[in-house]
Amino acid sequence: MIINEVECKSVLSNTKLYGLDYSVNPYTGCGHSCAYCYAVFMKKFSGHEEEWGSFVDVKVNAPEVLREEVQKKESGSVLLSSVTDPYQSLEKEYEITREILQILEENGFNVSILTKNDLVLRDMDILKKFDHGSLSVGFTINFADDEDRKIWEPGTSKIDKRIEALRKLKEEKIPTYVHVGPWMEGITELEEILKKVEGLVYEFQVENLNTRRTEKIMDIIREKYPGLEKKYREITRDTTEHNRRLRKEVREMRKRYDVPVTLYID
Ligand code: SF4
Repeated sequence: MIINEVECKSVLSNTKLYGLDYSVNPYTGCGHSCAYCYAVFMKKFSGHEEEWGSFVDVKVNAPEVLREEVQKKESGSVLLSSVTDPYQSLEKEYEITREILQILEENGFNVSILTKNDLVLRDMDILKKFDHGSLSVGFTINFADDEDRKIWEPGTSKIDKRIEALRKLKEEKIPTYVHVGPWMEGITELEEILKKVEGLVYEFQVENLNTRRTEKIMDIIREKYPGLEKKYREITRDTTEHNRRLRKEVREMRKRYDVPVTLYID
């Protein structure tokens, strides 16, 4: 892993993702190295030629920059994070996300955390300070089975650890949600995941597969899931039918479960 300490000019960025106002990314790059990651486009913006997952730029001055930005920009809702995992392993050492969270809480911003790592529990002291309704903590859970997780998301916490973290957050009355994104058709067992987290989350989000990393996805499908090769050749050419099948599956789940299921299709 190549780690660079860098200075950033701004950190509170406007976003339209999931109906939020801003996103904050304490790092550029991500050690989780998920094979389907669409944030790979950040390589172009940050001038990196290395493989996605092999480098992380640590924005060491991000808390300082954010302190100034929260004074100038209107308060709003913040996604932490959109193109990196704010609680990837490096965060243990750098604690940039921790400082950012503290600043957002002190300045009355609403925060939605999205991570695949139970390191978020380290910051329970800050999470507990947020007013009710101004914080939610989401875990991305794309697979019910750790064998699939290891194939697609090699650097992430085990599924059980994420579910245990959801339980601990719920015990502290912190609102939690699960984000399934992307739905890897034929691999992601939506209903199995929902059964594991039912009663722990107030919302279950599902997002379709976007095919920005077609080549990498197809390499894995050919090697690990050869029976799905034809289907994925079709999906990576045109997602229309994939999206239709996802809509249908979500409609069925809404009939069977009480947890609200939100569908995102890009
Ligand atoms: S955790 Fe998110 S940002 Fe990081 S590699 Fe995986 S999909 Fe990309």
